[in-house]
Amino acid sequence: MVDVTTIAAVLLPKTPLERLKLVRDRIAGRIVFTTSFGLEDQVLTQLIFSENLDIEVATLDTGRLFPDTYTLWAETEMRYGQRIRGFVPEREHVEALLADQGINGFVLSVEARKACCGARKVEPLKRALAGAAVWITGLRAGQSANRGSMSVAEFDAGFGLLKVNPLIDWSREKAVAFASANAVPVNPLHAQGFLSIGCQPCTRALQPGEDERAGRWWWENDAAKECGLHVGADGKLVRSGVLVEART
Ligand code: SF4
Repeated sequence: MVDVTTIAAVLLPKTPLERLKLVRDRIAGRIVFTTSFGLEDQVLTQLIFSENLDIEVATLDTGRLFPDTYTLWAETEMRYGQRIRGFVPEREHVEALLADQGINGFVLSVEARKACCGARKVEPLKRALAGAAVWITGLRAGQSANRGSMSVAEFDAGFGLLKVNPLIDWSREKAVAFASANAVPVNPLHAQGFLSIGCQPCTRALQPGEDERAGRWWWENDAAKECGLHVGADGKLVRSGVLVEART
């Protein structure tokens, strides 16, 4: 068993590719990378597929994504000749949601929005991560104040696994330069001011000076806006220093 703090200390001086390879080499079990096809996720997809790493690539198809995102999903599969596994919400959950709050009822309250994210994102993510040992994400510390304190590796108590964020210390400029140098396909919405892209009705372009996630659920005032993928039931980012099983 290895302490998560030790894993983070080992990974921190490494490059993102070295981090991915080290985690794959040292940790037993399934490793799942969840992509939403944003810039950072496309960088990690390039590293995983071009290096043939034994890491599953999955995405959450909420049913409310931008058409550009679906186009990029198809383009990415074509480019790498790999399938990206899509997880969709349970039919009965969406039908209950529609009956309860209507098609765009998520704007009515934070609770209504969390109910929508819960049905369309969190529950499918639980299935995507079921039985996995490691969850790889494209989080960067610079995306928001809320993510600024996150580590390259931490134990996600919400999902009960090791979460690794290989790009945690990258700047957006560095990710843009990597994507450009490697001809990585990116969402055309980025060029229109959409730096963080989620569901279409819940994402807008940024105003000058706003942080990268200000365009998500912009009608809410909470500075710690997250969709529930990276927070616990109390709304706080979940992490703790615990032991994870390593390869022997
Ligand atoms: S981002 Fe918006 S549309 Fe997408 S799941 Fe959350 S509330 Fe629903």
